[in-house]
Amino acid sequence: MVSRVIPVDPFDLVIFGGTGDLAQRKILPALFRRFCAGQWVDGAQIIGAARKGYDSDGFRDLVRESLKTHAAKQCQEVSALESFLRRLDYVALDGVSDEGWGHLARRLKPGRVRAFYFSVGPRLFGPLAERIEAHGLITPLTRIVVEKPFGHDLDSAQALNATLAAHFSENQIYRIDHYLGKETVQNLMAVRFGNMLFEPLWNSQYVDHIQITVAESVGIDGREEYYDRAGAMRDMMQNHLMQLLCLIAMEPPAKFDPDAVRDEKLKVIRALDPVEPHHIVRGQFEGEGSGYRQVVGNERSTTESYVALRAHVSNWRWAGTPFYLRTGKRLVARSSVINVMFKDAPHSIFGADAGRHANVLSIRLQPNEGITLKVTIKEPGPGGMRLVDVPLDMSFAEALGPENQDPPDAYERLVMDVIRGNQTLFMRGDEVEAAWAWTDPIIAGWQARGDVPKPYDSGSTGPGDAELLMKRDGRRWQGINP
Ligand code: NAD
Repeated sequence: MVSRVIPVDPFDLVIFGGTGDLAQRKILPALFRRFCAGQWVDGAQIIGAARKGYDSDGFRDLVRESLKTHAAKQCQEVSALESFLRRLDYVALDGVSDEGWGHLARRLKPGRVRAFYFSVGPRLFGPLAERIEAHGLITPLTRIVVEKPFGHDLDSAQALNATLAAHFSENQIYRIDHYLGKETVQNLMAVRFGNMLFEPLWNSQYVDHIQITVAESVGIDGREEYYDRAGAMRDMMQNHLMQLLCLIAMEPPAKFDPDAVRDEKLKVIRALDPVEPHHIVRGQFEGEGSGYRQVVGNERSTTESYVALRAHVSNWRWAGTPFYLRTGKRLVARSSVINVMFKDAPHSIFGADAGRHANVLSIRLQPNEGITLKVTIKEPGPGGMRLVDVPLDMSFAEALGPENQDPPDAYERLVMDVIRGNQTLFMRGDEVEAAWAWTDPIIAGWQARGDVPKPYDSGSTGPGDAELLMKRDGRRWQGINP
């Protein structure tokens, strides 16, 4: 089964920071893959806009090299690569002065979708928004795409929202959380709301608890300065894990439409209880010569590279079902998984020897996107009734054909959604603020108490206290498997 490609209308996409790491590693390869898939062919142009140092040919050379690494498969078709590169242009421009903006204005075509992607540091978000308006570049079909981090706390997020709102309406602002663009995240909604099987069980009567793990094996190389100011709570928990929690916990929206979905997510964030200090574990990775403090060059840093916590969504559906969330750097494997842990059967007709068996629905985001349901069956063979848990594997490749083995990268979907004008998978301003309103007191509490993160070994599953967090509740984390 080959997925249907719906072509998009001609567009102008300006990537501020087009020479930077994110643009070269993610955004431009994603655009190239969509180009090769036939999603946009005619009449679209992409303009890299960044500080001096390139002309259009130099920019194309830079992109060609990046694509060879980050879209190697598609690059095998040389004519497609060259055809894509011909649609690229470059404007040297300064985000904080008026230098170069006249050149940009002349390149843009009237009457078509015009998207400005802010792939630059957050200090430039406001100045760019101001200049886009000051140079008369806003049309009814204009959108802006804002990368994370969206603020550092509630105050800064509110200030940024207000700055953007002074120039753009909310339906023109696309705040990216690339986790929302992942195939499995959307599949989570399909599984929940497209099947009768799960939804009746999706509540505290049948779900014992939920685990959300976003584990990274990499450290913070290249982002030391930013990371030491942010930490895992701001960098991952406030956005990515919070968004996953919302999608798991939200009520069914009336329709799959941007505001209906985002209204339901917002209700979840607002229903979150404040987190008790003894329900949070912070950690910092250690390693000979390569521990967190050495890496950031600050022997006294108390920034966490790991955080685990127990959250409660106080509403009718989830009262009594805890959500355990954890994320960290330099862990044993790269693995993002949501595990919905169902309750044990109320009574075992097979006796105590059969052991405890509970269903687990695992939604794997990376690597190997897919969904598995662990069910209990009889162990094959003669003799007694021995029970064993086996996975019912919803492998995309097996079910839908090998061409679906390699689902589109999150950026492919999200950038095309911007062009189409679909905001469903983007965060609304009030959602981001609500997430900070929940996060801020946690961070303030650490600061007030002078909290110091617990050390953990690089390559481990995190600090021992995170195991205790679960053990105290008679539960345990599922393994972190690649
Ligand atoms: P980068 O430092 O590699 O690139 C920054 C880009 O901004 C460069 O093209 C540079 O020329 C341009 N720039 C800097 N100052 C400018 C100015 N005054 N005027 C015009 N252009 C200017 O940064 P990056 O890693 O690509 O990150 C860009 C944004 O994306 C940041 O907000 C970052 O937090 C976010 N982000 C990055 C990643 C990633 O994997 N790199 C992931 C998620 C979010």
